[in-house]
Amino acid sequence: MSLSPLRVAVVGSGPAGFYAADALLKSEDPPVEVDVIDRLPTPWGLVRLGVAPDHENIKAVSRAFEKIAARPGFRFFGNVEVGETVSHEDLLRLYDAVVYTVGAQTDRRLGIPGEDLPGSWAATEFVAWYNGHPDFQQHGFDLTHERAVVIGNGNVAIDCARMLALTAEELASTDTTPEAIEAIVGAGVREIVMLGRRGPVQAAFTPPELKELGELAGADVAVDSAALELDPASAHALDEDRERARRNYELLEEYAGRAPEGKPRRIVLRFLTSPVAILGDGKVEAVEVVQNELVEEGGRIVARPTGETETIPAGIVLRSVGYKGVPLPGVPFDERSGTIPNDRGRVEGAERTYVAGWIKRGPSGVIGTNKKDATETVELLLEDARAGGLQASERGDLAALLEERGAPFVEYAGWQAIDAAERSAGEPLGRPRVKLTSWEGLLETGRRITR
Ligand code: NAP
Repeated sequence: MSLSPLRVAVVGSGPAGFYAADALLKSEDPPVEVDVIDRLPTPWGLVRLGVAPDHENIKAVSRAFEKIAARPGFRFFGNVEVGETVSHEDLLRLYDAVVYTVGAQTDRRLGIPGEDLPGSWAATEFVAWYNGHPDFQQHGFDLTHERAVVIGNGNVAIDCARMLALTAEELASTDTTPEAIEAIVGAGVREIVMLGRRGPVQAAFTPPELKELGELAGADVAVDSAALELDPASAHALDEDRERARRNYELLEEYAGRAPEGKPRRIVLRFLTSPVAILGDGKVEAVEVVQNELVEEGGRIVARPTGETETIPAGIVLRSVGYKGVPLPGVPFDERSGTIPNDRGRVEGAERTYVAGWIKRGPSGVIGTNKKDATETVELLLEDARAGGLQASERGDLAALLEERGAPFVEYAGWQAIDAAERSAGEPLGRPRVKLTSWEGLLETGRRITR
């Protein structure tokens, strides 16, 4: 049994990064030391900056991450961007292996005219804004319009629609930024229209999230019962399904039968409707949509436009059609899938390089999915290490390299200082935390106790 610890860099401190660190730190043969590196001064990735603020129970997974961070052999380096502050080659020089867990950092494009008109936003931007991501606080979300259109039928689309509909009371106990709370509560939005290009049976959202839409204090939910009439292929798919599609369908049936309660806002769920253009003179004024029908193609039920179009007036559009990975300098990348090409986590065509999470398999699954995913990668990494295939070309300390380059970084203790400051700001308000949302504030607090 080799006792010299293997030194591994994990790049990205979201769920996949922490689960990879966990699996690595549990290894005894060989023992492993892990440095988790993040571009931001704060860890936890989408748990901090993606999960909706009113889903405090989901965010509680961070307690498990705190335990991982407390284990011997763990270090955190915040404010270190791979590809900027340090290169992939630097990491291969310093570490025996590198695991990329950088997630999917941008949005998939619709590829329709008007997509970039002011007022048309990627859901990723809206989510990052209300969650206090320091890169997205300058985005002025103008919510004064009467109607918002959310494009997509996944859980992120549901999050966006729900966040737009929350009341002051519902937001009060969350860690939504004060600016976002003010904008949402004061918004002129009366109707939020969510567009699914396929039918209710093919919707990607999950029943608990759909159920929440029906329980909002300040918004009615509306579904046209005609939209629930199924084509034979969808009816068959529904018969086969015992979980998601069936439970979703039952909830949608219940919503279709509800009488509106006259709540101030309304969420309208539409199906078989695709945007073809976002219209407006210098800013979003409407969305042109086409009615679809469903056809089977290669064993899959896909949407085909019927040619019947309609214009939905709207002042704001949130495009929520999936996240996409971005390339890292010096690391292979598959543009089509937006992932790093790999075999079960071993990166193809790059030595001592591994991946886990969304950058490995694409943006799917829930937080827990990343545990199994990261464990699979780490098992292969450890196998390679035991076979003698992993050795840093130089070995050295990242802290020393960063100091040499004059690059200030935030250690785990620095993050703990940020965490404590945010929690104590939230406490008197009955909120879990009030986030620091500027780079200056985060770095100032995070480095006060660091070197
Ligand atoms: P997603 O689940 O993949 O949903 C993407 C949606 O966009 C699908 O409805 C898809 O429709 C639609 N779409 C794609 N291209 C389109 C186009 N050109 N025009 C119109 N619609 C289009 O992605 P997501 O919502 O971004 O979520 C990412 C992952 O995070 C998912 O696994 C999700 O469950 C998870 N998540 C979970 C939670 C939670 O548990 N509470 C919250 C947020 C996110 P098609 O099916 O027709 O392709």
